[in-house]
Amino acid sequence: MAYTVTLIPGDGVGPELSDSARRVIDASGAAIEWDVQQAGLNVMDEEGTPLPERVLDSIRRNKTALKGPLTTPRGGGIRSVNVALRKELDLYACLRPCKHYPGVRSRFEGVDLVVVRENTEDLYAGVEFEEGSAEAKEIVSLAGGKIRGDAAISIKPISGFASERIVEFAFRYAQENGRRKVTAVAKDNIMKATDGLFYRSAREVAKRYEGQVEYDEWLVDAMCMQLVQKPELYDVLVMPNLYGDILSDLCAGLVGGLGVAPGANIGEEIAVFEAIHGSAPKYAGQNKVNPTALILSGALMLRHLGEREAADRVERAVAAVIAEGESVTYDMKPNRDDPTAVGTREMGEAIVAAMG
Ligand code: NAD
Repeated sequence: MAYTVTLIPGDGVGPELSDSARRVIDASGAAIEWDVQQAGLNVMDEEGTPLPERVLDSIRRNKTALKGPLTTPRGGGIRSVNVALRKELDLYACLRPCKHYPGVRSRFEGVDLVVVRENTEDLYAGVEFEEGSAEAKEIVSLAGGKIRGDAAISIKPISGFASERIVEFAFRYAQENGRRKVTAVAKDNIMKATDGLFYRSAREVAKRYEGQVEYDEWLVDAMCMQLVQKPELYDVLVMPNLYGDILSDLCAGLVGGLGVAPGANIGEEIAVFEAIHGSAPKYAGQNKVNPTALILSGALMLRHLGEREAADRVERAVAAVIAEGESVTYDMKPNRDDPTAVGTREMGEAIVAAMG
């Protein structure tokens, strides 16, 4: 089957990485037609915004996008383009598989975790009150002595709707991808209202998958220790926004860091696939950084589209090139100054060649 996918090359190192990722996906056997949409710093001057409406329209039309990193301009009151995109398209689930590939330098072997993070609420809702504001004072008086009078306040909303929706997503993902267990992570011994609701919603969803996918719960602090000691015991982890933000970077660190960590932001109908890392502006245009994370994001995208064979082919080729350790970028060499390191383009070409 042929698919049309929006390709946002991004800015900074984005265009070079997207170019490599596109070549690899084109060589995978899946029939993808690319609807290329420029966004980010490159279009700011001409179109007055880093995220023109035509980009959102294209994603809404095609339902699937592969996106290079986009820089958040400093100052000028512009919010993160990446956050805006997730909000505009209601991409409520952030999916971050963290798998160790032999040949990647890391402290652990055999880690294969998936972090599912709720993307729309929690302390990221943006409901904040400065110290001394009328709203902060009102909340201080409502709190009956539990909050100091000069406190700034950020609100943490957790709803039953969003909690159930994200846990359902995690179970469905587990089931569709042959995963054995979902672990819910929060901290209800302290946040009885919000995190208590998250766990209660999770237990309701877990009942629907009884006998199919296992379920367990960990407090977030204990989970952190588990992950740095015995990451192989865990499978799919699901959690509210803030814990998810922190634990997904922790898990990326377990498997070798930013250069190899893919991701996706997924809604009811629309999915945007992107690497975890940013636009690394200091390396822009140097054909230097690692294309693996965006290529693996492309493999995730192929799997999402139902092109499992093509996705496996991409993943196997990436694994082979990394295991061989020759045609890899500087960050994957034992020594960062290794003169045998290849560039972004050459690593992409080696992956294409490994697909045979
Ligand atoms: P960054 O991820 O861009 O870079 C930090 C460092 O990580 C780089 O200097 C480099 O040493 C390393 N690195 C990143 N990607 C790499 C790769 N593919 N291969 C090898 N090394 C790599 O983080 P930053 O410097 O904090 O952010 C730069 C810009 O990117 C900011 O404007 C930020 O807002 C934006 N950003 C965008 C996204 C996104 O598009 N989803 C995500 C994170 C940050």
